[in-house]
Amino acid sequence: MSRYVEVITNLPVNSTFQYKVPDGLAFSAGIGKRVNIPFRTGNRIGYIVKIEDQPVIADPRPLLDVIDEAPIFTSDMIELAKWVSDNYFCGWGEALEAMIPSVLKRGKVSSSPRIKEEEEEVVPTSPHVPNEEQREVLKRVNKCIDEARHEVFLLHGITGSGKTEIYLRAMENVISKGKTGIILVPEISLTPQTVERFRSRFGDTVAVFHSRMLESARFAEWKRIKDGEAKVVVGPRSAVFSPFDRLGLIVVDEEHEPSYKQEDPPRYHAREVAIQRAKMALAPVILGSATPSMESYYRAVSGQYHLVELTQRIDEKKLPKVKIVDMRMELDTRSGRKVISQVMEEVLKKDISKKQQALIFLNRRGFSTFVICRKCGYVLKCFKCDSPLVFHQERKELVCHYCSRTVQPVQICPECNGDHMMYRGTGTQKVEEELRKIIPGAVIARMDSDTMAKRGSHEKVLKKFKDHEIDVIVGTQMIAKGLDFPKVTLGGVVSADANLNLPDFRSGERTFNLITQVAGRAGRGDLGGEVIVQTFTPENYAVNMAVKHDFHGFYLKEIESRRQLMFPPFTSILKMTIRGRKEEKVIATAGSLAGVISKKMPGYEIIGPVPSPMLKLRGFYRWNVLIRSKDRAGMVKDLRKAIKGFRKGSGVFVAVDVDPMTM
Ligand code: ADP
Ligand code: ZN
Repeated sequence: MSRYVEVITNLPVNSTFQYKVPDGLAFSAGIGKRVNIPFRTGNRIGYIVKIEDQPVIADPRPLLDVIDEAPIFTSDMIELAKWVSDNYFCGWGEALEAMIPSVLKRGKVSSSPRIKEEEEEVVPTSPHVPNEEQREVLKRVNKCIDEARHEVFLLHGITGSGKTEIYLRAMENVISKGKTGIILVPEISLTPQTVERFRSRFGDTVAVFHSRMLESARFAEWKRIKDGEAKVVVGPRSAVFSPFDRLGLIVVDEEHEPSYKQEDPPRYHAREVAIQRAKMALAPVILGSATPSMESYYRAVSGQYHLVELTQRIDEKKLPKVKIVDMRMELDTRSGRKVISQVMEEVLKKDISKKQQALIFLNRRGFSTFVICRKCGYVLKCFKCDSPLVFHQERKELVCHYCSRTVQPVQICPECNGDHMMYRGTGTQKVEEELRKIIPGAVIARMDSDTMAKRGSHEKVLKKFKDHEIDVIVGTQMIAKGLDFPKVTLGGVVSADANLNLPDFRSGERTFNLITQVAGRAGRGDLGGEVIVQTFTPENYAVNMAVKHDFHGFYLKEIESRRQLMFPPFTSILKMTIRGRKEEKVIATAGSLAGVISKKMPGYEIIGPVPSPMLKLRGFYRWNVLIRSKDRAGMVKDLRKAIKGFRKGSGVFVAVDVDPMTM
């Protein structure tokens, strides 16, 4: 009979709390169940992770109640949460709670009525006969599935080379064995097109998650998985925690996507969690990408993973020709800089006159991206965020893109009273306006988070584009992925440099990926197509190699630079961000934290304190202290020990991010 239980709860600690099981609850207390516990002066929800005969503390307090009849977590999931906590410096309970829908965190019963989101009927499709290359990959993956053996496959193949077909085929094998599978996709590629492909193959056994769904629908999908009705999940990073047992395969599509990293606690990386989960389940993992992350590709070529490649598009279409336009040569004599080059303008006019379509990409929303005084050079900034204010044409307002604060536009410089503020820099709204001048007869739509705020607006625009009621879409990142429209003959990158100038060691990788993605969007149909990349730094190797479709060439250069500078994949970085409203206090805490760590963590490389590249955000000053090591879990463990008892100043907060996506 269980007499004592170890409980974890949603707190940033990786230890457990012991409670006594009152006689009345002796039969219901069990591992993986939710319980109500007295905690300090109140009550909270906790999760039983262990049962013991003996108390480890003097006189533990009794449990108040056991909420669940059946466990909601398996021991595997509890163990996986522990791994997340050990690798990403978050609480064990925090990690565990990230695995369930919100309603369950509030202690509701897990058998409430089911609501299903309305779905369109899907037409079943039959699988394609795999080609030679696909057969080769499938043979190896299926062998692992058949033998219940864990291996990681890095599937490198350009868009249209048949990667998704491999996921579908491998998943069929998994299901035929009575097992289940998870397919992770970045939120941005969770388009109706993607979902439809899985539904048409697996019908009702597919559960779908996306971040904008209603809580009730999320819970209903979770239930369907738990009850064994759904066998396959398609979803963004949190779907890696889907409550399957008998897991037979995990796919991480577009594995290089930064959105697999969660930015709030628990700050896990879904790709790494997927690998860990699959290891525990004795299941293979497929990481798929046209532009693998340096981390995964390095592990693949050094033998930790298997590198499998698809070298051709299914339809044997050649990749589109990519042309670089050197924007230093494109000065407009009247208004300074041009947004759309002569070359892009001509291609646009030609394509539109031939009733073809174009996707024009720029990763900055708004109209003018900064406002500068002609006399003194002062740039208008958000007073809370140390970030230039962006002028939005439609709202006629200046907007901070970090905290959303708005300000009325000004003509007088607040610094020197000069009377000429210049509105400079290019956002999607300005591109849209310029396009209307260049191709006045064309229907142009803009897709960015300003125009796509409403539920369903994304789908609506894409449908219109598909039906050719729209000729040109100009947009941010959200148009760079997954779209497959045969009449698109031009993919345009307005500024390839936008990512290059960021203070981030991944900026080259981001630029390479972006150009490659846009190239993947053009020329998918019989009409062929071309890609035009505008840049002020045509000599940059990320730009150059992308233009030549040379991933391997880019990898060799990039990995060498990472090796020399000791950046990932050669080390793991742990970033501590110290923030507070008073800068002196932030600096003082950062200094003493760095001091304590240097003293107590000899042998580790410690960098800082340094001001964060975004020194001020939402009224908080931010300084960073970084630690680097080859051993991620070891570093996390040693840091926990080192800062035990560390006292930070009041009003100062410390956030820890392991393997951060931004510096
Ligand atoms: P990727 O995921 O690499 O972009 P897909 O799997 O989507 O590639 O394949 C591209 C297109 O080719 C899709 O329309 C798909 O249905 C089709 N396709 C994939 N494999 C085959 C095959 N073996 N035979 C015929 N068509 C295929
Ligand atoms: Zn702001």
